[in-house]
Amino acid sequence: MSISANDRANNRVDNRGETDYADKLQQMAALLREWSGPIVIVAHVDPDGDALGSSLALKRALEAMGKTVVLPMDPPRFLEFLLREDELSDPLDTLPEHCLLAVLDVADRSRIAGAPYDGAERVINLDHHGTNDRFGDVSCVEPSKAATAQMVKDLLDTMDISWSPDIATPCLTGILTDTGTLRFSNTTPDVLQTVADLIGYGVDYAELTDRLQWRHPDYYKLLGKVMSTVEFPLGGLVSMARLTEQMREEIGPSDDDSDDFVGLIRYAEGVQVAILLKERGGKTKLSVRSRAPVSAQAICLALGGGGHVVAAGATIEAGLEKARDEALKATRNELEKHGYTFEA
Ligand code: 5GP
Ligand code: MN
Repeated sequence: MSISANDRANNRVDNRGETDYADKLQQMAALLREWSGPIVIVAHVDPDGDALGSSLALKRALEAMGKTVVLPMDPPRFLEFLLREDELSDPLDTLPEHCLLAVLDVADRSRIAGAPYDGAERVINLDHHGTNDRFGDVSCVEPSKAATAQMVKDLLDTMDISWSPDIATPCLTGILTDTGTLRFSNTTPDVLQTVADLIGYGVDYAELTDRLQWRHPDYYKLLGKVMSTVEFPLGGLVSMARLTEQMREEIGPSDDDSDDFVGLIRYAEGVQVAILLKERGGKTKLSVRSRAPVSAQAICLALGGGGHVVAAGATIEAGLEKARDEALKATRNELEKHGYTFEA
């Protein structure tokens, strides 16, 4: 049964996290340590730096312990530099027998990509989204953590692994991409300590932060088209842009590295909510960012999606114009909750 937007808004969002974080990690560590069968790692659809970074760090650490690990994932082009050949596999139709499924950075089960959820002997769920519905045999959900990769760092420390640059680099990637390279409000002293540890394990920090900004030339062509659509509705409190299928066709067959476009329009002066609308086969995918206390999470929950308080997403089963209207309605509601008023 699916959860209604109301249920989710009222019951399912718990941004407080675990009271027994260390115990949860111990349970997970024990399960992973004793597991002799295959381990399949999956993350969320449209994987980002945290989805890939946390998964790859865990995979490499478990393999160094002699485990058999499969990671079915199709990452965005700009993150491919992190990978060695054959580290990722194609999507699995079924899970191998006696497998443990490790689900990382996935807010709800329906957003798992790469393998089915059913058929695992055990499931672990490690995540930092308050909207996570706490599925799995051992779930550890900690919204105070900036990235799932930060939780993987804690888990691997709990397992007392031997750190190498190979494991630390993807782990640090997850933290850097989910904190806007240590600029967002989730950059706590705890995060900086974790980053210091990871750099200490031999990551080439300057090289990594440089490479994370490299983009294919087509990225800039698409960015130009998307930026030409920017508008500032609701009295300039919102910045909004769109990425249409026609733009993609004009660029030609090319990967879409547009994940950070919404991050660029959030800095328009006076803006409280930034929204990127992406047209996808009759549906519209929304990426929403907000300035606290205005909640992108509340806006996206009202639209059937989820995420973090200030960075969230949803998919609306409608074309761009209708999706735009629905997104603006939900955004207006959220802004009104925070005392903003609009003329009728
Ligand atoms: P993005 O805008 O980068 O796609 O997503 C921002 C955050 O919201 C990410 O943490 C992502 O996992 C989450 N998110 C994006 N779309 C959805 C959605 O449709 N449902 C849920 N539950 N979370 C989403
Ligand atoms: Mn994340």
